[in-house]
Amino acid sequence: MAERVVSAKPNDEEGNLELSLRPKRLAEYIGQDKVKQNLRILIEAAKARGEAIDHTLLYGPPGLGKTTLGNIMANEMGVSIKTTSGPAIERPGDLAAILTNLRAGDVLFVDEVHRLAHAVEEVLYPAMEDFNLDIIIGKGPSARSLRLPLPHFTLIGATTRFAMLSAPLRDRFGAIYRLEFYDPPAMSEIVRRSAGILQVPIEEEGVTEIARRARGTPRVANRLLKRVRDYAQVRAEGKITAAVAKKALEMLEVDSLGLDETDRKVLRAIIVKFGGGPVGLDTIAASISEESDTIMDVYEPYLLQLGFLDRTPRGRVATRNAYKHLGLDYPDRAEQERLL
Ligand code: ADP
Repeated sequence: MAERVVSAKPNDEEGNLELSLRPKRLAEYIGQDKVKQNLRILIEAAKARGEAIDHTLLYGPPGLGKTTLGNIMANEMGVSIKTTSGPAIERPGDLAAILTNLRAGDVLFVDEVHRLAHAVEEVLYPAMEDFNLDIIIGKGPSARSLRLPLPHFTLIGATTRFAMLSAPLRDRFGAIYRLEFYDPPAMSEIVRRSAGILQVPIEEEGVTEIARRARGTPRVANRLLKRVRDYAQVRAEGKITAAVAKKALEMLEVDSLGLDETDRKVLRAIIVKFGGGPVGLDTIAASISEESDTIMDVYEPYLLQLGFLDRTPRGRVATRNAYKHLGLDYPDRAEQERLL
């Protein structure tokens, strides 16, 4: 399947680009003011006490800056960060190896922390709570357990699925922050900043045009900027004006709200195939040959944010605004039936 230009998930070629565009300090991190304020206090307090920061959980849709914040927290504390992900830690032994290699104050960043294996989580609890590592040596009746002290580290967990986190794990985070989609002024600032770093000449209207279509997501903004830059280079002597941005984004089939063909497919499936809903997520996914998880993580949050989709106990429902955006008539009778 073709790579989505508005996907909030990172792709391979972006590795280096992301590194150069990623803010390194809290002061460079645009938007998310509430989270930033809280983090500032968390960091200052820990610094003043000479302790590690409390274990912190960051959650929200992909591409909003969770990994960036994790790195910033380590940077601001002047400590090292070890980055891994839930599925990468397969066995308790893998986690033990990581934990015993940390130094006091270090940050362990675990992406997709909701996907940790149960046996790994069991080892993580005492490590987070008392900085102890309980390991079992041997098997059967001769097995014995050993307790090793660990350095005081900070676990920063990131997840797109807060609800899938087990309660005991959730309870062991001292601070929990939810990242929100960015508002238009913040998005514009991000596009302006990235254009500056990439040294792309861009007019203010070009900034607005890209920011508006980037789904409130910095990763998408950076990706669109890069594509528009390519277009400008080949067709418009390198400068991004509003017209150039519009043209380039049209070619990429990103519409005025940042929806791409797959978003429209999701909406159209609900409306055309399932009478506007309610319809279950798995049924929608099957009908357009997408994975339910991808729809839930990547497409749905933004469609919900736009108010194009409602989540009901009986399934997803397309709203009047969704019909309007697709240029379809809204069937009032269906609405009445649903309300009955
Ligand atoms: P997540 O971990 O939530 O999927 P990332 O932290 O990887 O998201 O962020 C994706 C990219 O978006 C980063 O490489 C960075 O360039 C950019 N980015 C994220 N948040 C911000 C921000 N607040 N200000 C500027 N750029 C940001």
